[in-house]
Amino acid sequence: MNETPTRVYAEIDLDAVRDNVRALRARAPRAALMAVVKADAYGHGAVPCARAALEAGAAWLGTATPQEALALRAAGIDAPLLCWLWTPGGPWREAVEAGIDVSVSGMWALREVQDAARAAGRTARIQLKADTGLGRAGCQPADWAELVGAAAAAEAEGTVRVTGIWSHFACADEPGHPSIPLQLTAFGDMLAYAEKEGLEPEVRHIANSPATLTLPESHYDLVRCGLAVYGVSPAPELGTSAELGLRPAMSLKASVALVKTVPAGQGVSYGHHYTTDAETDLALIPAGYADGVPRHASGRGPVAVGGRIRHVAGRVAMDQFVVDLGRDHGPRRVRPGDEAVLFGSGEHGEPTAEDWAQAADTIAYEIVTRIGARVPRVYR
Ligand code: PLP
Repeated sequence: MNETPTRVYAEIDLDAVRDNVRALRARAPRAALMAVVKADAYGHGAVPCARAALEAGAAWLGTATPQEALALRAAGIDAPLLCWLWTPGGPWREAVEAGIDVSVSGMWALREVQDAARAAGRTARIQLKADTGLGRAGCQPADWAELVGAAAAAEAEGTVRVTGIWSHFACADEPGHPSIPLQLTAFGDMLAYAEKEGLEPEVRHIANSPATLTLPESHYDLVRCGLAVYGVSPAPELGTSAELGLRPAMSLKASVALVKTVPAGQGVSYGHHYTTDAETDLALIPAGYADGVPRHASGRGPVAVGGRIRHVAGRVAMDQFVVDLGRDHGPRRVRPGDEAVLFGSGEHGEPTAEDWAQAADTIAYEIVTRIGARVPRVYR
């Protein structure tokens, strides 16, 4: 049963997704754009966001898990699609049969995808991932010759086609970080080696959202944008979303559940970390950490209620938190059923996901992605 979205819901503006894709394409005019729709499109809904991004000119989609990639295919989305987080025994054959590009960081993965290709009687599309300095997924430079040699042999045998060579930045969200030129040089070297060994990838790519916005020399054939597609700034150092020409697509809205007057000295919420200093009115906001509201923003998270920005009073609980309205509610009296906007585009003075990231001492990526499955998504 679908919950009627009155308690708390995430409103998703698909026009904003489309506009952001167009804005990012204008920032990287010579590259194609991959919309990264992993983690349910960073909480925005993978299938509707993938469709919107493709409509606006994204040429590729990217997911972390094979299940995410296969779900897009099951929804009828047949765009080029790269999936990069594999474990031994994963659904390689299904991916090969669905025409999904699979990322290969090492020899075990190459062997498994070759076996799947033989079983399926198909040529698998693979993209070799180079670890140019992130120290996470990807093939180390020292092991690159072995992987490239094996991939070239697999191509000759017809089990795989190397469609891409790619990497990922460690610190693209920190402009001027010394690792950035080092990674670019390593990527250039690893690409050159692969091409010398006869590989002819269709796409070479390393840029995520921050690199797309700040490092044109990293754009190559394809830019892989996640957070910026959803209109959120990847880091305060890069500017706000508005300064970057992006529009946040998600608004998290709730209905005020209760307004009541309490005396001075009233402890509020678990642990009594907030105590009223005078008689005041409290509003109950029916959203909590089970919905993705960060408990770490207790006492700090901003909420627009009744035409003013208030802050979480005391702790965020599993399903609810409280804001202190004061006795003078401002422009008008706040009543049960009134809208409370935790975050939105900021265009109407409401807080943004970037504000919540600051309040919760985290990154905006986490704020939107953590919005829980129990929160209905409403598409506009
Ligand atoms: N590429 C890879 C491999 C990723 O893991 C991610 C996200 O973390 C992205 C691209 C997109 O990054 P961003 O959201 O910064 O654009």
